[in-house]
Amino acid sequence: MHNPGTAIPDRFPAEERFAQGAQYIAGRLTRGTSGRTHAVVDPASGEEVLTYELAGPADVDRAVAAARAAFPGWAGATPGERSDALHRFAAVLADRAEDFARAESLQCGKPLKLTREFDVPGTIDNTAFFAGAARHLQGQSAGEYSGDHTSYVRREPIGVVGSIAPWNYPLQMAAWKILPAIAAGNTIVLKPAELTPLTSLLFAQAATDAGIPDGVINIVTGTGREAGEHLVGHPDVAMTSFTGSTAVGKRVAEVATATVKRLHLELGGKAPFVVFDDADLEAAAHGAVAGSLINTGQDCTAATRAYVQRPLYEAFVERTAALMETVRLGDPFAAGTDLGPLISQVQRDRVAGFVDRARAYARVVTGGEAPEGELAKGAYYRPTLIADAAQDSEVVQSEIFGPVLVVLPFDTDDEGLALANDTPYGLAASAWSRDVYRANRATREIKAGCVWINDHIPIISEMPHGGYKSSGYGKDMSAYSFEEYTQIKHVMFDNTAVAAKDWHRTVFGDR
Ligand code: NAD
Repeated sequence: MHNPGTAIPDRFPAEERFAQGAQYIAGRLTRGTSGRTHAVVDPASGEEVLTYELAGPADVDRAVAAARAAFPGWAGATPGERSDALHRFAAVLADRAEDFARAESLQCGKPLKLTREFDVPGTIDNTAFFAGAARHLQGQSAGEYSGDHTSYVRREPIGVVGSIAPWNYPLQMAAWKILPAIAAGNTIVLKPAELTPLTSLLFAQAATDAGIPDGVINIVTGTGREAGEHLVGHPDVAMTSFTGSTAVGKRVAEVATATVKRLHLELGGKAPFVVFDDADLEAAAHGAVAGSLINTGQDCTAATRAYVQRPLYEAFVERTAALMETVRLGDPFAAGTDLGPLISQVQRDRVAGFVDRARAYARVVTGGEAPEGELAKGAYYRPTLIADAAQDSEVVQSEIFGPVLVVLPFDTDDEGLALANDTPYGLAASAWSRDVYRANRATREIKAGCVWINDHIPIISEMPHGGYKSSGYGKDMSAYSFEEYTQIKHVMFDNTAVAAKDWHRTVFGDR
């Protein structure tokens, strides 16, 4: 609903919508019992939009019990029944698209055009994709591989999945975790980041309204240390699926190992953006601005390190900086806003710290400051381009997670590709060239879970997303994600009906 007479739509009424609490267990909202509260803050204004009771271990236990109770019925439903439920879910999400867009913009500071055109439609499409995919779980065909037996595989759900999600794309991360898990017949407890619970809760409510049984999807909103670790270590949780930073991912892996859980880790990134000297400079500069500033740079696949072959280097720096200066910072709900704030003042100060330290060893070509005036109350930071940093400097090696692009020159193709691979991360990358042989070489040699050619950022439901190296392992989205959320059972039938089978002689007798 729009306010008549203004260009700014109503923000989202979070207090009213979550008056009953910010936990979603067994099909209803409830309050957390940790004894502590958390305030969701609009990062564009600094104002609190919802204060809620955080989940503690007892809430996690209740959610896991609800998921456990729902598992036999949901796992026992036919693929067609699960598919129908997911189709209805997609339809409910589509009806509520504007509600989701406003809630996501409010809690994250994302411009409405981003949530309306990317986060929300992407989530609806993912839901529709998994509605179809639920009927296409695949495996090897049955056959007489030994000669004397018939073998086949059963692809079975794992049980209760415990998932943990970050704050940068709360709705999409909830969707990426929940959809393949439930499409394959698992039930789930998801812990969103405590900064951004709103859209995960709306997502679970929409599932209930679409007829997905109570307990199949549960949301516990608490801190990582308390609710997160309790969920990861829970003996009734069969699998942990985590998206977040590499540092926290290592801790999650330690805790999960103690209970021998299946583990899926989607961790940090530091994507390279390699521009060869035959590239279309204008396309590369536009791609670099969009690819580095999407979601205010808080994107695990964002372009962060542009390596530009020497003949194009200065022109690329100049053109990219000029385009960055056209990006309009503003209220996420106002028409004409390109870039919103970072998630919090803490994150803004962290990003500013990286840039301020870089002034000692590199050139800050544009940006490098927070805006003044009306925007000073929010967590805003200007689009920033840093040139001439050394490959081993922290702005090249560490995940900054803000609107900052670092540009470095290279001479030979070998050098450009080696530099692209020279960080611990391997989530995504792009290469820019009009020469198919160069571009194809880049796709082979860059060590990352996704390589784009002449673009950077687009994702689609049919294709997998996941990391190499310290960016983790396992895949989100696509039919590949079923590998994470199912287990394979080999079933072997004897066809001989013979008591003393031929192979027994390896154990006893001489037949
Ligand atoms: P984070 O690692 O700080 O937190 C992620 C989640 O883990 C939150 O829900 C947090 O509460 C929880 N957590 C924290 N400590 C925990 C613990 N000890 N045990 C269990 N859970 C714990 O990450 P963030 O700051 O929310 O998000 C940004 C990070 O996420 C970046 O590194 C980004 O690259 C990464 N990310 C990766 C992908 C991907 O697909 N690979 C996607 C989005 C974000």
